[in-house]
Amino acid sequence: MAVEQQIEYAIVGGGISGLTLAIALLERGLSVHIYEQAKEFGEIGAGVSFTPNSVQAMKLCHPGIYDAFEKVCTRNLWPSKQGVWFDFYDGLDTDKNASSVFSIRNDLGQNAVHRANFLDELVKLMPEGKASFGKRLDDIIQNEDGRYTLKFLDGSSAIADAVLGCDGIKSKAREIMFGSDHPCVVPSYTFKNAYRAMLPMETAIAAIGKEKAENACMHLGRGAHLLTFPVRHGQMMNVVGFCGTDQPWKDMRKLTAPATREDALRDFAGFGPVVTSLLQLAEPTLEIVSCFLLCIACNSRQQQTALTQSSGVSLIWASTRLHRM
Ligand SMILES: Cc1cc2nc3c(=O)[nH]c(=O)nc-3n(C[C@H](O)[C@H](O)[C@H](O)COP(=O)(O)OP(=O)(O)OC[C@H]3O[C@@H](n4cnc5c(N)ncnc54)[C@H](O)[C@@H]3O)c2cc1C
Repeated sequence: MAVEQQIEYAIVGGGISGLTLAIALLERGLSVHIYEQAKEFGEIGAGVSFTPNSVQAMKLCHPGIYDAFEKVCTRNLWPSKQGVWFDFYDGLDTDKNASSVFSIRNDLGQNAVHRANFLDELVKLMPEGKASFGKRLDDIIQNEDGRYTLKFLDGSSAIADAVLGCDGIKSKAREIMFGSDHPCVVPSYTFKNAYRAMLPMETAIAAIGKEKAENACMHLGRGAHLLTFPVRHGQMMNVVGFCGTDQPWKDMRKLTAPATREDALRDFAGFGPVVTSLLQLAEPTLEIVSCFLLCIACNSRQQQTALTQSSGVSLIWASTRLHRM
């Protein structure tokens, strides 16, 4: 009697997308392995805020993902603000105590996590031995039997029936699938950058008052806006200042560049005391994050299937064995 071989899924990249996908597939009894280039799972950056549809998706993927999110999630701190996504302010207003201009509400209000905290909780849902580290994908080759060989820069390789690329915006998996000059492979610079800072909540309250510090706010101005929301169960405030530029991004291989608090204050010149006082509290040396976008194409003559996720992008190579299922 023929023994049915289990289909092997390889996930390239162990960020939030790769981990979530792996946990969801393992939950459904599938055989999955993550190949991550770093030495361990890790997230850079600070806060990330989720919309109600993402929270729904977490529940569908695996109840544990939603529980992990709930464990580390911070909502607006005021009971009266639970349904508020963001209160919007005129960032140029010179009155520090000016009221919001309007609010956007949704079913869940504001839901934010510290990236590293959320990832740490997701990692707990991964069984031992289901991830390999130091594996930077270099190539994918289809074998005669229809399966795929993943080749890594350290000279090692792995075989799988399906390869799912969750390796971020500069995805090697996507490049291998579509070719290096395809529009869906080369991220487009949006001419928008973001300064990021985290402030202790007490410091933020002293600077801008309780209402604005303890609840999500968006301060709008000409060519720039600064958003804040509480994270770490209200102990810290996440600050992100987005600003437009007419200068091209200097090094397209990198997504971040060193910057200073003075750069941020210059880019937000003309903003009122709320925004200015928050930027003055940031560390003297900051990082500026460039905002890139991808055009996502979902059809390829050579490859069978491609799919996108709300945050990451996954591409699937599927061997004929999988297609016959
Ligand atoms: C300033 C800023 C603010 C944002 N705020 C929000 C927000 O509030 N809400 C929201 O939903 N999104 C937000 N985003 C977008 C969000 O951060 C990303 O969409 C999300 O982090 C992407 O996750 P990912 O797992 O797909 O990719 P990544 O987090 O980039 O993970 C990719 C993983 O793949 C690995 N990898 C890369 N190349 C290889 C390779 N060749 N071989 C093996 N492994 C590889 C990397 O080491 C990494 O671990 C923001 C982005 C920015 C820049």
